[in-house]
Amino acid sequence: MKYDRIYNFSAGPSILPEEVLESVRDNLLNYEGSGMCVMEMSHRSKVFQKIIDEAEADLRELMAIPDNYKVMFIQGGATLQFAMIPMNLMKNGVADYIVTGNWSKKAYQEAKKYGKINLVATSEDKNYSYIPDCSDLPISPDADYVYICENETIHGTTYQKLPNTKGKILVSDQSSMFLSKPCNVSDYGMIYGGVQKNIGPAGMVIVIIREDLIRDTAELPTWVPTYCSYKTHADNGSMYNTPNCWSIYVCGQVFKYLKKIGGLEAMDKRNIEKAKIMYDFLDASQMFNGTVEKEFRSWMNIPFVTASKELDAEVVAATKAAGFDNLKGHKSVGGLRASTYNAMPKEGVEALVKFLKDFEANYKA
Ligand SMILES: *Cc1c(COP(=O)(O)O)cnc(C)c1O
Repeated sequence: MKYDRIYNFSAGPSILPEEVLESVRDNLLNYEGSGMCVMEMSHRSKVFQKIIDEAEADLRELMAIPDNYKVMFIQGGATLQFAMIPMNLMKNGVADYIVTGNWSKKAYQEAKKYGKINLVATSEDKNYSYIPDCSDLPISPDADYVYICENETIHGTTYQKLPNTKGKILVSDQSSMFLSKPCNVSDYGMIYGGVQKNIGPAGMVIVIIREDLIRDTAELPTWVPTYCSYKTHADNGSMYNTPNCWSIYVCGQVFKYLKKIGGLEAMDKRNIEKAKIMYDFLDASQMFNGTVEKEFRSWMNIPFVTASKELDAEVVAATKAAGFDNLKGHKSVGGLRASTYNAMPKEGVEALVKFLKDFEANYKA
């Protein structure tokens, strides 16, 4: 392959579009005639202001974000949001969480530090291999919000239908599915995602939040750090302090690339096509089995196993030797996991499937 690159199936940080990396490379030492690299530039400069403004505008266009939603670029990854969400959104001190895997469990455990958190549904009984029925949950009358992780990166599940929140606002962690398909933003009070799964370099989260949910810093408990108030970021255009300029820049380049290739509808088609190649193979294989109930399968993260840990390890080693990488599954699921994010070309998935087919055909126990 070009540049001796490999097919990188990492769950995150993960593959980026080659065209974006090339443009970043071409502008590395002198960004558009500024005489500087974006890494060297003041975040207060006109050049950088244009970068962040365009990034936001392009994201708004891609997701058709309504005007009454704020877009913020915040540091601390998705993990800091596990705390910022209860700190900012709790008025009654009550929230309802649906736990469908490691990431929503972490968010749930963190939120418990800040209020009364009700676990209204979970799929822990079957190692998070499905999404529970969320059509009639015991939503608390005084819940400030209902929380989900919409695509569980480790377990490979995704919601086909959003929960019935009975009028409460929905908060969704979309880290590993951000921009993978069209999204109706007004169904949510807040959407957020760490960018290193499907968008750009690690160390940043994008928060999309309905304006009326952003409370004045003075209304929050005094112990809430200034940095952790959404109002701080909203009022300062994501530049209360020095932002992650590099990540904002590269994410912005990815947004432009996505617009160019047809936006989220086009991405959705490509992602379904890629995942289908993988799932069709798993369904036909005797050796490899998907770990998720069919109707809840993710299009982004595809975990699968063989009959034994030893064989799993053998396959992982063989894939690595053949020019694929990061296919080892997370320890809580085991086996293998192929992450087929936006930037993974169809050829990469086809090559992996061919390799696994050949492995199975030639395998002698
Ligand atoms: C990776 C991931 C996180 C954590 O992201 P960080 O940026 O490392 O904090 C949270 N939620 C989901 C769904 C993830 O995939």
